[in-house]
Amino acid sequence: MAVREFAERGADLQLVGIQKRFPGFTAIESLDLTIPAGSFFALLGPSGCGKTTTLRLVAGLEEPTEGRILIGGADVTATKAHQRPVNTVFQSYALFPHMTVIENVAFGLRRRRIGDATSRAHEALKLVELDHLAQRRPQQLSGGQQQRVALARAIVNRPALLLLDEPLGALDLKLRRQMQLELKGIQEEVGLTFLHVTHDQEEAMTMADTVAVMNRGAIEQMGAPAELYDLPRTAFVANFLGQSNLLTGEVVGTTPTSIAIDAGGHRVVVPVDRAQVHRGRITVGVRPEKVSLHREAPAEASDRNVLGPGRVIDVSFSGVSTQYLVEVAGIGTLLVFAQNIGIGPVAALGDEVWIGWSVEHGFGLADLAP
Ligand code: ATP
Repeated sequence: MAVREFAERGADLQLVGIQKRFPGFTAIESLDLTIPAGSFFALLGPSGCGKTTTLRLVAGLEEPTEGRILIGGADVTATKAHQRPVNTVFQSYALFPHMTVIENVAFGLRRRRIGDATSRAHEALKLVELDHLAQRRPQQLSGGQQQRVALARAIVNRPALLLLDEPLGALDLKLRRQMQLELKGIQEEVGLTFLHVTHDQEEAMTMADTVAVMNRGAIEQMGAPAELYDLPRTAFVANFLGQSNLLTGEVVGTTPTSIAIDAGGHRVVVPVDRAQVHRGRITVGVRPEKVSLHREAPAEASDRNVLGPGRVIDVSFSGVSTQYLVEVAGIGTLLVFAQNIGIGPVAALGDEVWIGWSVEHGFGLADLAP
C-alpha cells in the first residue's frame, strides 16, 4: 500500500464560535474546535446531537448562523461547497451503477478536465486495494468493496480534509470492524485530515486520535480515547463511552491526595487529582472491569475501596468474561466484569459477595449522576 506521495498533507480545521439555528430549533449552541492537520478526529454522540449538521457546515452544505470556519488557516465561511478543499464519504455509497469502478473514481477528475485522471484513479484504487476490480460495476462488488470505492473516489482529488458521515453504518459488524482498521491504516498512509462522525463509541475509540463527545449541540469533552474512557468528566460521557458504576454522596473527608464520600453509608475514596469537584455532594465512578468480586470480606487497605456484603442478583456468561450484577444495601446495583481466567464462575446467583477496586481507578464527575 506504499503510495505515500499519493496525497498532499491534510490541513487543519478550525471552527470558531459556530452556532446553527434552524427555524424553531438550535442544532448547534456554540462550537469551538481545532482539528490539527493530519489527525483522525471523531465526533461522537447520540442521534440528533448535531454531528451531521457540524459536518454539513464544514462541507459548505449549510451556512452557520454565527461563527467562522477556517481550513488551513483560510476563512471558508463564505466559500461555496464545491470550492472548498473538502470531500465527504456518506453511509450510502452513491456510486454510479452504469459506470465501472475506475470510471466512478475518475469521474470527478474528468469533469474538471484533469489530464492524468485514469492513472490517478488507479493510484487511489491501489490505496484501498481494489485496483484488480477496476473494470467491475458497483453491483458486482460487496458492501465493503463498494465503500472502499467511495473512499477512493473521495480521496482521488486530494482534499485537504475528508469528512466521513457514518461511512461504515451499512456494513455488518464483522466487516465494519475490519474496515475500521483499514480506514485508520489509509488515513495514516495518506496523512489527510479525517473528520469522522459516528454514534458508535467503539468505532470512534478504535480509529480516532482524538474524540469529541457531543451532546445536545455542544461538545461535552474532548481528548484521546483512553483519556476520555478512563477519566470522563460528566455522567453523559461516562455512560456514553461504556458502562460505569456511579455513586453519589456527600464529601466526608479530604486529604492532600484523596477525597472520601459517604455513599449510602459506605465510604468511597477517589484520588484528589481525578475528582472534578472537591466538596458538597459529588458523584464518583469506576468502570465495571476495574472492579473485583470477593467471596469473603477483603482486608481493609487504604488504597482500595470495598463495598459489601452484597448479593449477586444476575450472572451472565459471555465467553471471555462474566458480567455480575451485585446489589449492595444503601447503594443499589453495581456491575462487575470479570475475566474468565479460571474454570467456572467466581460467584453464583444469590451468593454473598464483596466488591473492591483500587482507589486510583476511580474518577470523579463534574456533575451528579442522573
Ligand atoms: P443522527 O446520528 O441521527 O444523524 P446527528 O447528531 O447527526 O444525528 P443532526 O442531523 O446534526 O444530528 O441534527 C441535529 C438536530 O438538528 C436534530 O434535532 C435535527 O432534528 C435538527 N435538524 C437538522 N436539520 C434540520 C433542519 N433542516 N431543520 C430543522 N431542524 C433540523
